[in-house]
Amino acid sequence: MNKSLILGVTILGLALAPAAWSEARWYKGATHVHSLWSDGNGSPEIIADWYKKHGWDFMCFSDHNTLLEGEKYVSIDPEGHLTPARFDALQSQFGEDWTVTREAGGKRQMRLKTLEEIIAHFAEAGKFLLFPAEEMTSHGGNPHMNVLNVREVVPGAPKGGGMTPKMQGYIDTIEAQKAKHKVPMLVHLDHPNYHDRVTTEEMIAVRGLRFFEVFNGIGHYGDPAQGVPHPERHWDVIMSMKLRRDPNYMLYGVATDDSHRYFKFKGGGANPGIGWVMVRAEKLEAASLIEAMQRGDFYGSSGVTLKDIDRSTKHLAVEIAAEAGVTYTTRYIGTRKNFDTASKPFLDDKGAAIPRSSLIYSAAIGEVLYETTELKSEYILTGDELYVRATITSDKPMALPPVKGDLEEAWVQPVLPKP
Ligand SMILES: [Zn+2]
Ligand SMILES: [Zn+2]
Repeated sequence: MNKSLILGVTILGLALAPAAWSEARWYKGATHVHSLWSDGNGSPEIIADWYKKHGWDFMCFSDHNTLLEGEKYVSIDPEGHLTPARFDALQSQFGEDWTVTREAGGKRQMRLKTLEEIIAHFAEAGKFLLFPAEEMTSHGGNPHMNVLNVREVVPGAPKGGGMTPKMQGYIDTIEAQKAKHKVPMLVHLDHPNYHDRVTTEEMIAVRGLRFFEVFNGIGHYGDPAQGVPHPERHWDVIMSMKLRRDPNYMLYGVATDDSHRYFKFKGGGANPGIGWVMVRAEKLEAASLIEAMQRGDFYGSSGVTLKDIDRSTKHLAVEIAAEAGVTYTTRYIGTRKNFDTASKPFLDDKGAAIPRSSLIYSAAIGEVLYETTELKSEYILTGDELYVRATITSDKPMALPPVKGDLEEAWVQPVLPKP
């Protein structure tokens, strides 16, 4: 029997491009990038140059607890990140007048370019945009949260205290900063499975968590055998549990590079160009991009490109921009109303709860509602779903896989039925 008929799904004759979006186009962006201003190994100009040359429309430097402002010098050191050879390469690419050096403590040092200087050199209206960001980085481990379009540096939370209060602190601080500066800003939780982990329940307990990294270029996929859910599992559990109480709750998934390494390109993560967002906005401006993301008009990608997405309270439709010879599987994933809400702790072989593990929930959460290999597909909501989202998985291996064998994917934002 044809599964698509059972589910009331049509895959032909879709009108995928709403007229309202005739002015909008897709912009490719990087929202999680590190430089020599914190623990990245490249100077800002080679990083901006890389993203611009490789077809990104916008990028944000998101160094740890710092903005690219003021004076910062880095030693030119054969043992450090800025080796004499890399310094020479900078001079030959940008000219001898470009670099500013000084002698300090018997070492030659180079001044890092500020964001203002990088913007002056690289930004082009309508073609390449840079805007400020920061990775708000707690001391001693998670949580880390990126804030886009930030105006004042936010210090990292000190060691100790719980994950939820720290996430709440970052979100509330940015809410206050938005009100003060009257500009849109966006906060996304980074790599929940990094280091000491953020559990699903700690994320559920936060007010105003609207974005998280469903894909981070370093990996952080978790380990379900140790009670650390894959980011997509976090996503489904959070959506399901929050929607029980708040029918308008929404959590969007972003994909990022979290790039730190700009000289050796190999699998294993931390290079640029591994994960990104495609945002459908009217203008290549920070406010327009952030507002589009807050509407859910974007997707995360680790290689798969989409031609179109149509999201409404009635349906979710996806059209893939296919590469020759690649097969794509689109899965529409959601949870039905009245699902089994029970949960239990994750126990080790001896029956003890594994520290910092997330709870185990029913398999009815994050069910695959419909799956297809068609390039153009649609899921029509029956009204029985709490939410529906889509994941597209290709059979094409990533060029720089965080984990060997990773395939190119894309993540489409959830839709909610009419309450
Ligand atoms: Zn981080
Ligand atoms: Zn980072």
